[in-house]
Amino acid sequence: MNASKAARMLQSLRKTCAGGRPVVLRPCPKCGKPFGARALRKHLPKCGKGK
Ligand SMILES: [Zn+2]
Repeated sequence: MNASKAARMLQSLRKTCAGGRPVVLRPCPKCGKPFGARALRKHLPKCGKGK
């Protein structure tokens, strides 16, 4: 994934969550995709066991 694509993902995620509380996005240490705290928790085990 290139940087501009990641930036777009960040923007779209922020728009999605704009109505509620501020969402802190963290990049997945394994695949580098940005996730909110909850999403990253759910994602991490899947990302590790994916392949
Ligand atoms: Zn990941």
